[in-house]
Amino acid sequence: MGRTEAVRTNMKECVAVSSEVPVIGTTMLAERFHAATREVTLEEVPVPRPGPGQVLIRVAFCGICHSDLSLIDGNFPASVPVVTQGHEVAGTIVKLGPGVDQWKVGDRVIPSAGAACLRCRNCLRGNFAACLRLNLMAFAYDGGWAEYVVSGAIGCSRIPDNVPFEQAALLADAVSTPFAAVVRTARVHLGNAVGIWGVGGVGTHLVQLSRLAGGTPIIAVDINDAALERARRLGADYAFRSDDPDLQVRITEATGGRMLDVAFDAVGITATASQAIYNLDTNGQVVTVGMSAQHIDAGSFMEFSLLRKQVKGHLGYQVQDIQILTELLSLGRLDLSESVSAIVPLSEIHRGIEMLQEKVGNPIRILVQP
Ligand SMILES: [Zn+2]
Ligand SMILES: [Zn+2]
Repeated sequence: MGRTEAVRTNMKECVAVSSEVPVIGTTMLAERFHAATREVTLEEVPVPRPGPGQVLIRVAFCGICHSDLSLIDGNFPASVPVVTQGHEVAGTIVKLGPGVDQWKVGDRVIPSAGAACLRCRNCLRGNFAACLRLNLMAFAYDGGWAEYVVSGAIGCSRIPDNVPFEQAALLADAVSTPFAAVVRTARVHLGNAVGIWGVGGVGTHLVQLSRLAGGTPIIAVDINDAALERARRLGADYAFRSDDPDLQVRITEATGGRMLDVAFDAVGITATASQAIYNLDTNGQVVTVGMSAQHIDAGSFMEFSLLRKQVKGHLGYQVQDIQILTELLSLGRLDLSESVSAIVPLSEIHRGIEMLQEKVGNPIRILVQP
């Protein structure tokens, strides 16, 4: 990846927010991804203006996600020539666009990371959650690795007073995607034997949320001992290495012979999906959350059909899932304090990206602080 560190050319005015009237400068620091060269630069850009139905948010924290890295390394196609990355934002509303009266300046919110296209066949039927051409923040329009970000007023979720911004920033993908996988796609319920392949950033939250949903037992499978130990700490009843030749025997013992009702593949490669499918009970289901270009091998038709196994793909979350997660955090049912692995200042965004690329310290989430 080619990189140029842009020098901040003009000092912007000091940006301070008093109790009610925020002072907003005219320019701000923002990370910019240039599709033609795949360069990531830090630039001084104009502070965006919220249009009708939009709000301007001062970013408190924004997560660094694997999908951000995928845009940089070319695995995700660029949809615009230049864009500010970062789609996992928590911050404070500092300005309302024309017509916005649902929010007020000073409200703490998590903006939605996507906007429905309002044109596809699902949007035309009013099924906006199933939009086929979702405009994604940080891909189709500017995201939150910047001091300010513009978002639609509809789709913002209020952050309860007792929920810190650091944990709120995790909800706009890193925790909401696992939430939707557990609650909506897999429908984990009390007594389900749950296996989770890959207990990194996504898988760790699958462990916590499966436990909250009543999964019994919860079995973490990974190749990394430190990740397995962390999964045990955060709620897994058992933690097994994926390269253990006796893995199936261990899962048989851990489940009293009934095997898994639900297995999440948070890695998304042929080997992990096959292991997960192989260890299912009758009517068991594998939900794939991880992604790669590899293929799924579900074994023989004979066994797959005889045991009535299922494989389901999962993607994303609904905005209402973020709201439910803020309630779980506020009520103390869910603790994400261990999920903030590191915080880097926006001026050191390159270091943050590198830390995730190199998996420095086995991170769950690295946050950027403008
Ligand atoms: Zn993300
Ligand atoms: Zn649409």
